[in-house]
Amino acid sequence: MPSLYIVIAVDTEGPLEEKLKDTFQRINDYYAININPSIKNLKNLQNGNYKIPKYEKEKIKEILNPHFLNTFSNWKELNKQTKFIFSKKFRKNYIDNANKEIIFDWYCLDHINFKTNPRKRDLGHHKVYDKYIKYVNKNNFGDQMQWHFHPIPFNLKANSTGNNINFTSSHIEILTRKIIDRNWFPSSFRPTSSIRTDLNLFLEQWIPFDLSNSNIKNYEIQQRKNSRITSVYGLDNDSRGAPIDWSIYNPDVLDTRKKGNLKRYIGRCLNVISYNLAINEKEVIAAFQRSKKHNTLLSVTLHDFRNITNEVNHLFEIIKKVGHKFPNQKFYWSNTVNAFRKCIGLRKQQISAKIKISSNILHINSKNKIWGFQPFLAIQTKMNEYIHDNLIPDSETKWRYSFDKESIELKNIKKIGIAFNNLYGSTIVYVADITKNNYKWKVNKYN
Ligand SMILES: [Zn+2]
Repeated sequence: MPSLYIVIAVDTEGPLEEKLKDTFQRINDYYAININPSIKNLKNLQNGNYKIPKYEKEKIKEILNPHFLNTFSNWKELNKQTKFIFSKKFRKNYIDNANKEIIFDWYCLDHINFKTNPRKRDLGHHKVYDKYIKYVNKNNFGDQMQWHFHPIPFNLKANSTGNNINFTSSHIEILTRKIIDRNWFPSSFRPTSSIRTDLNLFLEQWIPFDLSNSNIKNYEIQQRKNSRITSVYGLDNDSRGAPIDWSIYNPDVLDTRKKGNLKRYIGRCLNVISYNLAINEKEVIAAFQRSKKHNTLLSVTLHDFRNITNEVNHLFEIIKKVGHKFPNQKFYWSNTVNAFRKCIGLRKQQISAKIKISSNILHINSKNKIWGFQPFLAIQTKMNEYIHDNLIPDSETKWRYSFDKESIELKNIKKIGIAFNNLYGSTIVYVADITKNNYKWKVNKYN
């Protein structure tokens, strides 16, 4: 019988500081209203007692919701929350129809290539990933790691987000380092900004699943209502035209929002507690209703630096309430990959490859067809540079690479990494330190 699969995709970014002056600066940035930063003024604004025009008053009240302001500003505080979220005590409060505890997918961000860091994010490769992978590995809940990315903005501020992934090569650097340093590669992606053709085609080469569709009925009306100076309508979370019935679709080659012939699968994902694009009773009813006929993926997103318990309580209240109206429908907590598998009906498939280097040529022979055009080739040089290159495609399962004077010679290389996903959404990563005699390929499989 078809069922509802609920995925919680956490945008996992580490601590984020929000000082009083930051809050008032945001009010100024969003609405051009200059107010003296003080607790008294904050309270008055939160209660709607500060004298400003009614329209702004309501909007400012929303963004000053203590849930958004009380962010965890350092790892010590944030780790306390993480420890609790990874406890049986927390998880057992939220049970699905298989009597299983709630699970989370941690979509991790690396903050790299920034110049300034006004909100004190933890800058550097693997800083966030390393904190969460420890908890995921230590526990058996079924949580997974996945990939979140903010395109680097022109202002190079760590708390801003750009709209062009090619302004820097950070996305390539991040994946290269994840393969070489952590033997890891993602199979699903969550964006922060809108996906345009640059990111669409990049994802299409490597990543089978993404949760980028946040379209809602009356998107335009809601976004216009939200209009702040910094938020131009159509700029953020622009999924206009994408399905709003919780169906999964394949995107168009140029416009991710349209259905098309690309191979990647896009699922719908709404915010939990938010002033826009938020999950609500009506949306959950639509998902349960759809699940009577088709396995259905409902995904929601939230941030690790906010109070996760608040968000989960809010979500679970809605699910329980709506669930009572559908006594014959089952809902299950799921990781992203399994939810897509159930909904699309992907066939299980082995994942492995034979890899060897003979003279200066790398040979990769995959047992089965892979997802995408080529495995991701990652190289760490002896000078500690991390680089990525295209392979020579000989067939759908065979590739070569030439280490030579035009590319890079083997004598200058420390490690080589190769990663790919298969048609079932399983992931495999191979890494070898070729400076060692009789080196072996270290293999990690996920999903
Ligand atoms: Zn983000």
